[in-house]
Amino acid sequence: MKDFKQQRPFCDINVAADFILSGGIGGVPTETVYGLACDATNESAVRKIFSAKGRPFIDPLIVHVCDMEMAESVAHFSDDAKKLAEKFWAGPLTMILPKKDCIGDIVTAGFDTVAVRMPSHPMMLELIRKSGKPISAPSANPFGYVSPTTAEHVREQLGDKIDFIVDGGECKCGVESTIVMMTSTPKKLLRPGPISAQEIESVLGEELDKTPKKNEAHPQAPGMLKSHYSPKSRLTLFENPEEIPSSFSGEIIFFKRPENPQSNHYWLSENGNPQESARNLFALLRKLDKISQNGFYCQKAPNTDIGVAINDRLARAETKFDK
Ligand code: AMP
Ligand code: MG
Repeated sequence: MKDFKQQRPFCDINVAADFILSGGIGGVPTETVYGLACDATNESAVRKIFSAKGRPFIDPLIVHVCDMEMAESVAHFSDDAKKLAEKFWAGPLTMILPKKDCIGDIVTAGFDTVAVRMPSHPMMLELIRKSGKPISAPSANPFGYVSPTTAEHVREQLGDKIDFIVDGGECKCGVESTIVMMTSTPKKLLRPGPISAQEIESVLGEELDKTPKKNEAHPQAPGMLKSHYSPKSRLTLFENPEEIPSSFSGEIIFFKRPENPQSNHYWLSENGNPQESARNLFALLRKLDKISQNGFYCQKAPNTDIGVAINDRLARAETKFDK
């Protein structure tokens, strides 16, 4: 504990598990983005998460589990849900399923369903195992801002509001999990993510509804809010560099390294690799948000596989200025 006090708020998994068991909250690594974690069965701890993030209570949280036994202790699994779990867990897929009693209304925003995911990051799995509790964890950023993909991102924005941070390196995926509502007919893609709708459809042998209504009074996912994931500087999207006014002298993010990069040029990936682009996306938006004077431009990704998730986040990041 002495070491921990010196390095606060960074700590190892044993200290983090102690905090979780005593109702604390802290930043944790997952393969998607960093989460702000607490015991999902402890109402007062869950309240602290909403307050640290400034997140409205209408936005339900994802519950993270380390094995199927824990998964089935929080939700009812249909045969289809079991099939998807078998194929994609541990990994970046979240399923909305009927909830069990140990998960309170505070976690689910009063819904009788709960969002469940088994993450693949070994440190997160170990933390869940050590604490023996299902862990609710929204992204560890102030509500509406760009998600964190390093422990340092979490410290910068929430370091003084939380009990601990576990540093598990840079997140492998870089965008939030794919969310599928399993309780509707047809099943709905609520948020595109690292696992594509097509991959899910091929396991289920049925089509997903990929166009859930965006403006429902009660958003089914914060990822569905029109404005989310937003930097503070003005962000404008483009497909073709010709769309950028020639007078613009600010920063430009390209999807892949341009042939003759200028000093105001940045890129999401060297060769236009979509996974690499997703991994770099939020860190680059954060970096440019710090230095940009007049806003910046960002090129859209080819709209397939994880590119759909990248474009979804970019569109929401840009929307803020369209209102
Ligand atoms: P985040 O924690 O920021 O990655 O977002 C978690 C996502 O899961 C949010 O978009 C939630 O609205 C969504 N979610 C969680 N629980 C439910 C639920 N019971 N029904 C629908 N969406 C949910
Ligand atoms: Mg979030």
